[in-house]
Amino acid sequence: MSDSYDVVVIGAGPAGYPAAIRAGQNKLKVACVDEWKNFDGSYAFGGTCLNAGCIPSKALLESSELYQRAKDEFSVHGIKLGGVELDLAAMQRRRASIVKTMTGGITALFKANGVLGIQGHGRLLPGNKVLVTGADGAEKPLQAKHVILASGSVPVRLRTVPHDGKHIVDSWNALEFDAVPARLGVIGAGVIGLELGSVWRRLGSEVTILEALEQLLPIVDQSIAKEAQRHFKQQGLNIKLGATVSSAAVNGAAVDVVYTDAQGEHGLQVDKLVVAVGRRPFTEGLLAGGTGVELDQRGFIQVDEQCRTNAPNVWAIGDAVRGPMLAHKGKEEGLMVADLIAGHFAEMNYKVIPSVIYTAPEIAWVGQTEEQVKTSGRPYKAGSFPFSASGRARAMEAAQGLAKIVSAKDDDEVLGIHIIGPMAGELIAEAVLAMEYSASTEDIQRTIHAHPTLSEAIHEAALAVDKKSIDGINR
Ligand code: FAD
Ligand code: NAD
Repeated sequence: MSDSYDVVVIGAGPAGYPAAIRAGQNKLKVACVDEWKNFDGSYAFGGTCLNAGCIPSKALLESSELYQRAKDEFSVHGIKLGGVELDLAAMQRRRASIVKTMTGGITALFKANGVLGIQGHGRLLPGNKVLVTGADGAEKPLQAKHVILASGSVPVRLRTVPHDGKHIVDSWNALEFDAVPARLGVIGAGVIGLELGSVWRRLGSEVTILEALEQLLPIVDQSIAKEAQRHFKQQGLNIKLGATVSSAAVNGAAVDVVYTDAQGEHGLQVDKLVVAVGRRPFTEGLLAGGTGVELDQRGFIQVDEQCRTNAPNVWAIGDAVRGPMLAHKGKEEGLMVADLIAGHFAEMNYKVIPSVIYTAPEIAWVGQTEEQVKTSGRPYKAGSFPFSASGRARAMEAAQGLAKIVSAKDDDEVLGIHIIGPMAGELIAEAVLAMEYSASTEDIQRTIHAHPTLSEAIHEAALAVDKKSIDGINR
């Protein structure tokens, strides 16, 4: 006999668990199945984001930045400290405790919203049945009117760089190092490479990042990427562009890496090597034959704009489907699908998804880069404002970077907002709201921003678009 549900969600990451909660709020009978196990063998809800991604990385980014500021910046404020010492074990305990609190919170949220959380493996069978295999190997079929697939993603591995989890590692291992590697190598100068490279650099590692492309952060507006490159260099992140790794081998306690760039072949020895070359959708063991769910050529579950798969009443969301691999993108898809299942109106605006890179300074953007607008052929105007002219940023000893707005010349619509600077990840929320409401540049120009705040940089950048900046130089 199988239990019957209105909705069964497979995966309780930031896409799946909000979908389950919203389905519960919509008074549907819902179960959410998740198989995530931490290194100690314990099950935990929250997926990559809470256990091995967004949250632990931000905990370490915060701690390592404070450590560095205590060492290098406090004296500028007139605060004299004795010796500043790193207690990595305490830092890692704090990270682990934040993760535990947050993942435990999902269990409580499930209870509060009438969601049955099940720990085990879920497999979709034909006819919208989900076969759950529990920790003890016992199998239980669930019958569902609707199934939401939210199985997430896993790191891409390189054939020539054999992962051993100890010396050659992925981002999850690199969040749980129990000693600061003297020499850290990272393959890939993407979001993970830059964030984790920053953490370990601040804590004392000599960091070398090998990036295959000739250009750093090609998806970012290039004036912002260039500014970022300058700061990363000053911070001692040794980023080698156009570097192709041909092999890596563990040699005693070290790793020998061979890579080639425009200058020829080089050898690099490091103590730990992190592979951060992207993530791929995870669907292993998810689909039995005959479900009708199709994957695309890159292994993503094929869906339409509203996250419907090819199979009736089977939906898919999050990293397992097309679009940016971001927690907030998956969450919004989850809410949309749970509302559509309940018969409510719901849609998702894929054009206005913010991105944030939590380096120092932070990088955040929404909408199109100047390069993309140029390529589209639409006449545009752009303006920027440097944080060096922001009183608040100066007071914070964080007067680095800039805010930039790209707008249409014809109707003044804001097409993209790009920030590198203090709290850029928070500042971008205003930009997202403005673009969600199809704001014009003039709308932002006429919006009163409190003084002195970092958000004034957005106001001034909007003024600069029409060469009317007051505190900056209009170019
Ligand atoms: P996941 O979080 O991967 O969750 C999928 C869940 O489904 C997992 O628990 C998995 O075990 C489970 N599962 C899979 N198959 C089955 C099955 N058959 N049965 C049962 N359970 C199953 N994004 C941001 O937006 N901001 C950030 O700051 C950020 N930082 C990151 C830092 C790092 C180091 C990493 C690795 C990623 C980061 N990301 C960040 C990306 C973010 O973590 C992902 O976009 C997000 O977790 C995707 O959510 P998801 O629910 O689709 O998948
Ligand atoms: P990424 O796509 O951001 O970067 C991968 C980088 O590796 C790219 O620059 C790519 O050119 C490079 N690369 C690929 N193959 C290579 C090779 N063989 N040798 C050298 N370089 C190579 O991927 P990631 O950093 O692994 O992150 C994975 C996903 O997780 C991303 O999609 C990202 O959106 C998400 N994430 C988001 C955040 C955030 O929102 N702050 C943080 C971490 C991760």
